Amino acid sequence: MPTSTLPLIHTSVDASVDHAIQAIVTGASTESTCSTDLAAGPWDFDTRPGYGPGSSMGDVIPTGAPRQGELPAAYREASEEDLEARIVAAKQTLGDRAVVLGHFYQREEVVRHADYVGDSFQLANAALEHPHAEAIIFCGVHFMAETADLLSQPEQSVILPNLAAGCSMADMADIDQVEDCWERLADVLGPLDQPDADGLVPVIPVTYMNSSAAIKGFVGRHGGIVCTSSNALTVLEWAFARGHRVLFFPDQHLGRNTAKAMGVPLSQMPMWNPRRPLGGSSADELQDSRVILWHGFCSVHRRFTVDQIEQARSEHPGVRVIVHPECPMEVVDAADESGSTEYIRRAIAEATEPTTFAIGTEINLVRRLAAQHPQHKIFCLDPVVCPCSTMYRIHPGYLAWVLEELVAGKVQNRIQVSDDVAKPARVALERMLAAKPR
Ligand code: SF4
Repeated sequence: MPTSTLPLIHTSVDASVDHAIQAIVTGASTESTCSTDLAAGPWDFDTRPGYGPGSSMGDVIPTGAPRQGELPAAYREASEEDLEARIVAAKQTLGDRAVVLGHFYQREEVVRHADYVGDSFQLANAALEHPHAEAIIFCGVHFMAETADLLSQPEQSVILPNLAAGCSMADMADIDQVEDCWERLADVLGPLDQPDADGLVPVIPVTYMNSSAAIKGFVGRHGGIVCTSSNALTVLEWAFARGHRVLFFPDQHLGRNTAKAMGVPLSQMPMWNPRRPLGGSSADELQDSRVILWHGFCSVHRRFTVDQIEQARSEHPGVRVIVHPECPMEVVDAADESGSTEYIRRAIAEATEPTTFAIGTEINLVRRLAAQHPQHKIFCLDPVVCPCSTMYRIHPGYLAWVLEELVAGKVQNRIQVSDDVAKPARVALERMLAAKPR
């Protein structure tokens, strides 16, 4: 089997966030959690409205969000050890017919079965390396499985073990709202597809990888491009070479932090809130803008604060604070460094001296890194154990279920993007791959 992008090192330190939550709930640990409901099986929430417990529990889930049917009792009632053995056995039976992908933020009990571990784009590329595998089991969230489907062979099945594993940030940019925004911008800025004498169009749409295939397709149809948290600056340069301004969605923070680093003043970054007329900005503000920021955010990264950084510095003199660029601007400005999950992983792996790291990103990754690098002290800036609500929905029970169904010749939870969306979405992804740093 292939090597993972993140080496799966077995250590004596328990990296399991689930074990930490169980210990909090039983009183064996003095840590705190944002929801004791996290100790229950995620199937308890499959039929309820909302994203379930965790960082996104206060967010509004769209009415059309996919729902997961009932997981058979054999998986709900199985012990951790039993599920572990069943997953291992099913994977052995399937061999090269199935590839399991695990996102950095996925729970430890699932990640340990992944053939590849990485961020969403690394994992989509890992799927590309297996054009002959019948099934790609994506242990991540819905938009990631869609991206893997866009890039994989048509006959391959991309499977999301729990259909309720969406992404609250991706859901904040709904295609109807984006289409409406585009029409309103045309009212203010004139025909959006007509370049001026300098060859620049009024606005280039840029979407973060963390968005639905429908949004990627929209961007592809309108001369726009996709970005990741690693290449956002290069992508914005690409866009500014083609347009007067950028419409950036869904993550306002990644858009703001990146544009600010490029020297765009905050006064030229109005917000577009889809629930307000003209997005809540005036026509003058939109005309004067360089980057129009969609009113979206990640509820995991929004939890990090400047106070947490100050506390880390007072308790751990010399601490190196690294945060993800989905964090609010004040937090990124106060940190020592900011970068993608891959940046954070590398920074820790490449530190030659024992170092104390305070990390502002999802807790499953932080605890795994702490277990893998015992020579360093690594902790999450947020003292409350609060994982991504939707990543948390992929429990080993669902992984065992989809794998054993595959062994039985049945494909469950296939994620398929329709051709009319897939074609322009691939164009937007190809533009990103072709965009080169200056
Ligand atoms: S961490 Fe944030 S952006 Fe990533 S899946 Fe969870 S809600 Fe979405």
